[in-house]
Amino acid sequence: MALLEARGLTVSYGGIRANDGIDLDCEAGRVVGLIGPNGAGKTTFIDAITGFTPVAAGSVTFDGRDLASASPSARARLGLTRTFQSLELFEDLSVRDNLLAAAERSSWWSFVGDVVRPRRRHGDVADRVDWALDTADLHDVVDTMPDQLSHGQRKLVAMARALAARPKLVLLDEPAAGLDTRESQAFGALMRAVVVDGISLFVIDHDMGLMLSVCDDLYVLDFGKIIAHGTPEVIRDDPAVIDAYLGESTAPEQLPIHTQEHGQ
Ligand code: ATP
Repeated sequence: MALLEARGLTVSYGGIRANDGIDLDCEAGRVVGLIGPNGAGKTTFIDAITGFTPVAAGSVTFDGRDLASASPSARARLGLTRTFQSLELFEDLSVRDNLLAAAERSSWWSFVGDVVRPRRRHGDVADRVDWALDTADLHDVVDTMPDQLSHGQRKLVAMARALAARPKLVLLDEPAAGLDTRESQAFGALMRAVVVDGISLFVIDHDMGLMLSVCDDLYVLDFGKIIAHGTPEVIRDDPAVIDAYLGESTAPEQLPIHTQEHGQ
C-alpha cells in the first residue's frame, strides 16, 4: 500500500469540477510530481488532501488511515504537512520561531508517541528545528525576520517549516515559483536530500526543468482529470501531454531531462 492513496477524488466549486475522479499514489521514499496547465486543479488537489477544501466524492488514505473525517491539524499530526503558494510565513516571528511554532504544534502527539515507542532521532522539538534549519541551510538567518529575507530564502523557510514537524510526507505547492535557474536547481537538490533523509515529497510546479529532473514519478492533470502517469522520460514523450500542457510546438527533445543522481 502506498503512503498516500487518492481514489476517485472529486472536488466541485459550484459548476466547476476542479478535481474529477483522481487516482494517485505517493509511494514512500519518492518524489511524486503533479503537472498541468493553469487552472487544471493542482492546488485544489493539495487542498483536498490536506483537508483545506471539502471532497465531493472519493477517498484519501494516508499511512493506512482513511482521512475522511480528519481536520487539517489532525492530518498534520499524522505526518502530512504542506506549503502554500503564498508561503504563509508568520511575519512577526524570526525564522527559528517560525519553525518552532510549526514543530511545537505536533509536540504533544510526539510526546505520547515517544512514551509508547522512544525515538532515537528528532524526538525533541529543538532538535527537529535544528535539523530542518540545517537541511535547508538556513543557520545564517535563524534570527532574521521574514521581511528581511530574499524571495528564495523565504521559499526555503516555508519548506523548512513544513519539515520541522518531521512529517512523513510534505506537499509542496509551487516551491520554485519566482526562483532563478540556480535557485531552482538548489531547491531540487534540497528535495532529493530530504527524501534520502526519510521524508517523502509530493510537488506541483510549472518549472519543467525541476519537475523532470527531481521527480521519480509524474502525474499530468488537465481539466481536473489525470491524463498521463509515468516516469519523467515517459511523460516527456507522451503526445497527450505535449498537446495538453507543453504546447504542440514543443518538441520532446526541447524538454530537459537532467541526469541527476536520485540518491536511491
Ligand atoms: P495554477 O497552476 O494556476 O495554480 P491549478 O492547477 O493549481 O492552477 P486550481 O487553483 O486548483 O488550479 O484551480 C482549479 C479550478 O478551480 C480553476 O477553475 C479555479 O478557478 C477553480 N477554483 C480554485 N479554487 C476555487 C475556490 N476556492 N472557489 C471557486 N473556484 C475555485
